[in-house]
Amino acid sequence: MSTRRIESTIVALNEKIEKTKNATKEKLLFLKPLEDEHKRLKLEKQKANDFNEEHLKAHANHLKSIDRDMVQFRQDFHRRKRSAGATSETEDFHALLETKREETRQLREKSLKLKAEVLSGIVQVNEDAPSCEVCTDEYNEDENMPKVLGCGHTICSKCLKNLDKYNNSVNCPFCRKRCCFMTCPPNLFILKK
Ligand SMILES: [Zn+2]
Ligand SMILES: [Zn+2]
Repeated sequence: MSTRRIESTIVALNEKIEKTKNATKEKLLFLKPLEDEHKRLKLEKQKANDFNEEHLKAHANHLKSIDRDMVQFRQDFHRRKRSAGATSETEDFHALLETKREETRQLREKSLKLKAEVLSGIVQVNEDAPSCEVCTDEYNEDENMPKVLGCGHTICSKCLKNLDKYNNSVNCPFCRKRCCFMTCPPNLFILKK
């Protein structure tokens, strides 16, 4: 091969290389914006995904917080309901207690008054009434024996027998006090009259 031919071949090859280079450059130039666009789209997609993920996360968190609020609200509601119920029950109980106390106080007062009346009236009754105040029969030493009850009231033995018995006791027909009917001594004061 002659030198000249070799040289021309080298030139031709160089030209071919240059041409290929240029073609590659052109292709690269053409590809560049596509690649850029691809990158941009990829980035945007990622951003969109991130945004969606964040958005979803935020939404989920929001839902969770709503759930927590609901649970809290429900607990508060039940606690308040319970405490309200307890309060009103306590109030009811205290009101009832107060009523019972007042009733007891009134009963005690009434009882004391009755006792005072009885104590002041018993002598007078016995003095002025030699007959049983229940059956109006005159007292005697037989069937209408005057009997003194534990409370101090006197009735005849016939009436004492007729009283309802509870174990060994009867309720005095005057003061309702429960008295033992087994140990009722005769009222000697009346019998002497
Ligand atoms: Zn009587
Ligand atoms: Zn009595």
